[in-house]
Amino acid sequence: MNKNLTIVIDGPAGSGKSTISKLLADQLGLAYIDTGAMYRAVALAAHERSVDPTDDRGLEEICRTIRLEFRGARLFMDGRDVSGEIRTPLMDTLSSAVSARPSVRHAMIGLQRRTAEGGGVVMEGRDIGTVVLPDARAKFFLTADPRVRGQRRYRERVQRGESANLSSVVTEIEKRDKNDSERELSPLKPAEDAVIIDTTDLSIPQVVEEIRKKISNI
Ligand code: C5P
Repeated sequence: MNKNLTIVIDGPAGSGKSTISKLLADQLGLAYIDTGAMYRAVALAAHERSVDPTDDRGLEEICRTIRLEFRGARLFMDGRDVSGEIRTPLMDTLSSAVSARPSVRHAMIGLQRRTAEGGGVVMEGRDIGTVVLPDARAKFFLTADPRVRGQRRYRERVQRGESANLSSVVTEIEKRDKNDSERELSPLKPAEDAVIIDTTDLSIPQVVEEIRKKISNI
């Protein structure tokens, strides 16, 4: 396999993107870039600095001044590990709101392209195959039944020791997908040349296997 390969994994929340992308990156010796975490970090900074998610100027200033750095699968913002803090229900909602703003998208897309320069990455997100890296040759779009995606998120929260309610987690996921799919800029949708994989009834190793088969001759 080509060590400079760029693998793109897009899809909605709970489709298995992160788990699969991390495993693939580990197995293939590629860097793992979670673009959702970048939007989450912008949301966290906005929250901490009391910047409203519709305040484009304030968001622009945040994107210009924060320093984001991946160390393995962990994300550091200005040298501080924010990997845990960005995964709360509030950041789920705030990241979806700030990610629809032109100033944020413009800055993050530029940063994501620079990070992927030279290849050798697995990059996961919503618009990587359509907007960020449209020329990538290995593009995958994962989907799954909303109820199953909700159950996966619910289990993650319970495992982290948080209280959660299954039906409200499913409702939240459906609302976030609707926001992400209907926004004007970079809506969540498969690239025309993406391989679509429905992970509803597939195990993690089965999805990884399917992707590895498809990229084996690239
Ligand atoms: O993937 P994750 O759920 O962590 O992403 C958080 C939010 O960031 C998503 O709901 C979406 O609004 C936004 N996002 C985006 N474009 C990406 C990745 C994430 O708009 N490439």
